[in-house]
Amino acid sequence: MTILPDLSDLIIEQVSVTNGVTVTVRAASPTACCPCCGTICQRVHSHSTRTLRDLPASGRPVHLKVDVHRFFCQESTCRRKIFAERFPSLTLPRVKFTLRLQEALREMGFELGGEAGARLGKRLSYPGSPDTILRLVTQDQLPTTPSPRVVGIDDWSWKRGLRYGTLICNLEDNRPIDVLPDRSVQTISAWFEEHPSVEIVSRDRSSEYAAAISKGAPQALQVADVWHIGTNLSESVQTLLARGLAEIRRGLQIQATPEQEPEETEPVLEEERRPARSHSVKLAQAGRRAQKLDRYEQMVELHQQGVKAADIASRAGIGERTVHRWLAHDSFPETRRRRRRPSLIDPIRALCDLTMARRVSYWLTALSRTHSPRL
Ligand SMILES: [Zn+2]
Repeated sequence: MTILPDLSDLIIEQVSVTNGVTVTVRAASPTACCPCCGTICQRVHSHSTRTLRDLPASGRPVHLKVDVHRFFCQESTCRRKIFAERFPSLTLPRVKFTLRLQEALREMGFELGGEAGARLGKRLSYPGSPDTILRLVTQDQLPTTPSPRVVGIDDWSWKRGLRYGTLICNLEDNRPIDVLPDRSVQTISAWFEEHPSVEIVSRDRSSEYAAAISKGAPQALQVADVWHIGTNLSESVQTLLARGLAEIRRGLQIQATPEQEPEETEPVLEEERRPARSHSVKLAQAGRRAQKLDRYEQMVELHQQGVKAADIASRAGIGERTVHRWLAHDSFPETRRRRRRPSLIDPIRALCDLTMARRVSYWLTALSRTHSPRL
């Protein structure tokens, strides 16, 4: 790593070190190339000083003061009469950061995002606001992969819970290739038709993706990705264990108190109830209830032995507030089914499709935060 950026086309005239480092430079060549017509020009119009920020040196900010010549373009047919000389190895036109500083900030943005990147940069004497860092990230070009062979596709959230697209990655170099606006069969199959080089596609178990790949890339082998296999396996094992635990409890009949139906504090309208739960969801609920009952019984036993609440929480693997709350009950506190809260869009819910209703709900929530006195 060099202390200074590439100054091969420049001459260093002065270096001053105070709280920061300032390097004064000027162009080595007396001529410059017109950016419009390419004519090499030497008639100087004027001078100006351009200040660039560079990577910090030992925690000190580094400034480059560049003496910039402005030239007359000598080509009579050129529409640019005057132009400022450029330094393509150092920076871009009308940018106040050197190329290598822009690259460093872009990497910060990719790793940390705008706000956290700017906070870290400030501590390390890197300039750049959160917006600047995000702009550098969005300006970065996706790598071009003309003939991808092994790709992976999955959901991409444009707005979580509201709008989803599809992210396509090249699995041979683990880089993104494209982001599609939605996850419809038509859009995805069209993409695969434009990329006939694809031989293997890794995907989740979505029937939409399966249909799109079969339509757009019938030659490709479809495989399940490792993450979804692991997730599905984990969910299946949890369900199996929950079912086994529930059956053991029923067989041993060790219920401390008779089962009680959850109390309904007030009547719930039929249309407010959630959709009926599937068999697997009910099994998972039974498993969670059995685990909770285990902890409750363990807590009661420890409490009767005189163990303090903090120690009970530590041994039973629950929070201390939960211990106090459960002790306040005379019996096992069953989980009540939650009622959906009234929403601002209830009056128009029947008029909208579900996606639009969620979008309206989002807008109204955002509006109510900024204009709450009006709503
Ligand atoms: Zn010109």
